[in-house]
Amino acid sequence: MTKPIMQLENVTVSFEGRDGGGKKVQMDVLQELSLDIFSGEILAIVGESGCGKSTLGKVLAGLHRPAEGTYRYEGQDSVVLKGKEKKAFRLGVQLIQQDSYAALNPSRTIFQSLKAPLVAHRLTRGAKQTRKRVTELLETVGLTPVEQFVDKFPHQLSGGQRQRVLMARAISLNPRVIIADEPVSMVDVSLRLSILNLMSRLNKELGIAFIYITHDLATARFIAQKGRLAVMYLGRIVELSEVGLMMNQAQHPYMQALLSAVPLPHPKMAKLKKQLPIKGYEVPKLTSSPTGCHFHPRCPYATEECERETPQLREGKHGVVACHHAERIPVWTLPHSSASSSS
Ligand code: SF4
Repeated sequence: MTKPIMQLENVTVSFEGRDGGGKKVQMDVLQELSLDIFSGEILAIVGESGCGKSTLGKVLAGLHRPAEGTYRYEGQDSVVLKGKEKKAFRLGVQLIQQDSYAALNPSRTIFQSLKAPLVAHRLTRGAKQTRKRVTELLETVGLTPVEQFVDKFPHQLSGGQRQRVLMARAISLNPRVIIADEPVSMVDVSLRLSILNLMSRLNKELGIAFIYITHDLATARFIAQKGRLAVMYLGRIVELSEVGLMMNQAQHPYMQALLSAVPLPHPKMAKLKKQLPIKGYEVPKLTSSPTGCHFHPRCPYATEECERETPQLREGKHGVVACHHAERIPVWTLPHSSASSSS
């Protein structure tokens, strides 16, 4: 791969929270997190609710500043960017959030919502050119015939159509990276695939890198089938690799637990699937993160060292993994679909 566009190095983000007794405590939502993002790639970030993945998206979009560590965009510290470079960052990185209704002004038509950033950033000149560009954008995201959508208000569109409008608004600024935080979780199940396919198409045709944030392993696997997958647990990345390799040879016990929880449609495949004997199903709170490896209270392979020492991300059999005992833990795989076809 080429030089990264975005580089996080030992980034920590903290918020004030309250513990079980109501006492104020500091929560490290992201903890010494390092991550490189490359031009034109698709990276899926998967993790349970509260693991810090949305905060990570906001840091990458420049909405949260790291309390510690650095975030570089195009090689420059994002916190000290000024003038032209700051503008390039603001336009170059776009965030799409899950609630498409809240993200659009209900009193503006789709045309008005798409026109605003074009005019504000002087990307078009004159009413005619702006109208033409809005039409092109709606065509690009598949909202055709354009006349049926352009003068409607957000409440007149479905959740899937509104997500397409948000996608159109993001690409109107010619971004290099789009961060999509749970973009299909509020969309009707029957339309999710079409939104994921739209993102894949925009990635291929426009060369935009996508960072897809989700709690859903199945959609992460689908969107990033030729990309990378990062797995987060309580503020840290615990495994990062190519999706195909991760699905076939998961190394971190938490990723293995996620895979073992994926329901399989075919009884023969389901029979082949082992259950990982994790010790508990409750995810600890960030206000009381376990010492050492955060996963140790649930991990079937935990040792004393795991309780004491925080494992750092290091090279694994493929990609990187944060586990003291990755070499001796058997890799984990989902049964292949050949199990169903052979019956
Ligand atoms: Fe389990 Fe220890 Fe590895 Fe953490 S470091 S995942 S507790 S074996």
